[in-house]
Amino acid sequence: MTDEPQQILITVQDFDTSISQLQHRKATLGERKELDALESQLAEVATRTAERQVERGALLERQAELEDQIGTLTARRRTIEDRMYADRSAAARDLQAMESEVRHLTQRRAEIEEAELEVMEEQEPIDAALAILVEDRAQLQATADVLRSEVVAAEAVVDAELASVIVARAAEAKRLPTELSDRYETLRARLGGTGAARLIGNHCAGCHLELPSVEVERLRRLPPAEVVTCDQCGRILVRS
Ligand SMILES: [Zn+2]
Repeated sequence: MTDEPQQILITVQDFDTSISQLQHRKATLGERKELDALESQLAEVATRTAERQVERGALLERQAELEDQIGTLTARRRTIEDRMYADRSAAARDLQAMESEVRHLTQRRAEIEEAELEVMEEQEPIDAALAILVEDRAQLQATADVLRSEVVAAEAVVDAELASVIVARAAEAKRLPTELSDRYETLRARLGGTGAARLIGNHCAGCHLELPSVEVERLRRLPPAEVVTCDQCGRILVRS
């Protein structure tokens, strides 16, 4: 373990980079993307189901109205028939009028029954579509349940890793001089999470640009404890 502040700093930076990567991994889990896609499919199935149920409801309402009408006609016919059989002494003319009304009621009822049959036929494709939607939903739901537990498991793995990196980072960061630590945090906040970078050959590993050879020579000759920054990106440049 080094006590050289800049070496501690670059270790802290490495931990911070790992933390960002782990957070990114957690936020972009493949399982969660799949789950999101499934959930929008489920929402679509729910919308289509609701639409079909509205259609079905309207047809059932229509059917109930027709059945009401059939009931009324049947009751009316029974009343007249009862009167016909009860009053055998009724005048022939009255009987004829009653028979004619019974015929009319019978015909009217047949028409309404026909209409009811049509309404019931219209329900068949809707019921079939609803049955398919119920199956689709069950299948999607089962897959979503599996994915949901996979997401939880994958998140737990990342969380465990994150927790241990955060602990290790805190232990290193504690050893940094306050001034260097503050400077690093300010740069890191401003420069997308990277406040310190290694000088590798002639390159700054923070911005990946090449520094002029003369500049690199100058930096290398400076005392190791002196804190220097990259001219191009402004990050603390750590010489190995
Ligand atoms: Zn740079």
